[in-house]
Amino acid sequence: MFKGGSVTVTSNGKPVTIHLVSCGAVAVKTRFRDARFSGLAAMADFILDKNFTEWLPIWVMIIEHPESVFVIDAGEITEVNNKDYFASSGFIAKWFDTSQFKFSITREEEIDEQLQALGITVDKVKAVVLTHLHFDHTDGIKYFPSTPIKVSTAEWQKPFGDLPKLYPSWFRPTLVEMSEQYEAFEKAHYLTAAKDIILVETPGHTYHHCSVIINTDELNIMFAADICYTQQQLQQNRFAGNNTSNLTAKKTYDTVNAFAQSSPLVFLPAHDIDSAERLRQLIVLK
Ligand SMILES: [Zn+2]
Repeated sequence: MFKGGSVTVTSNGKPVTIHLVSCGAVAVKTRFRDARFSGLAAMADFILDKNFTEWLPIWVMIIEHPESVFVIDAGEITEVNNKDYFASSGFIAKWFDTSQFKFSITREEEIDEQLQALGITVDKVKAVVLTHLHFDHTDGIKYFPSTPIKVSTAEWQKPFGDLPKLYPSWFRPTLVEMSEQYEAFEKAHYLTAAKDIILVETPGHTYHHCSVIINTDELNIMFAADICYTQQQLQQNRFAGNNTSNLTAKKTYDTVNAFAQSSPLVFLPAHDIDSAERLRQLIVLK
């Protein structure tokens, strides 16, 4: 449904090719994407909302780096088209996830097919890195039974809104400690020996939500996952209706905005329709 985007930049003089592919589409309540309130009031507001947004992408980032290929988040799978997919997680989860969200995905949009279309075999992928544990970011891990799947220890120990019954039975994440600091980000972990791909903690959407920064020779490119639904929300201090805390989300917005002031930053939320175009054109956050 969504056309992806690719760009080749350089890091330490060597080419790095970055792709965004949409593994399915999701629609959410308009008051879920743009909340009028916070906490339980925001939840009541979006549950009562009769309107859904337009279809939104579920971006997955694929990074072809001199050290290896990395896949950031894993996207949706066709099973989600079936409302009974959520039955294993109990009545409330099934009601919530089938009444508040709509999903649409074809077989060709799943991550294994998207990699194949780019000429990348699954065994070439060094690691799948999950920004957080929401199923629209994790479902595609079913295609990586033999690949290390990295998750921040803190996100794994204290998830928010995850549905572990949907995980493949073999799933044992490779936990990473966010024990470094990177620029304004207090918790970070280097994913490459060259220290040019960095997992940073960007809490708010979940308690320990993470994002991935690629520090290239020209600028920084950030896979922002669900920090916000659109870049405008970050610029205008508007929030989605499902944050753990808008105060924490605001602190993350401030950190990202300060980082964008210090060096050019291409900002790519996972459900922002404009992310692929911003990647292709390297349009920076102002
Ligand atoms: Zn999420």
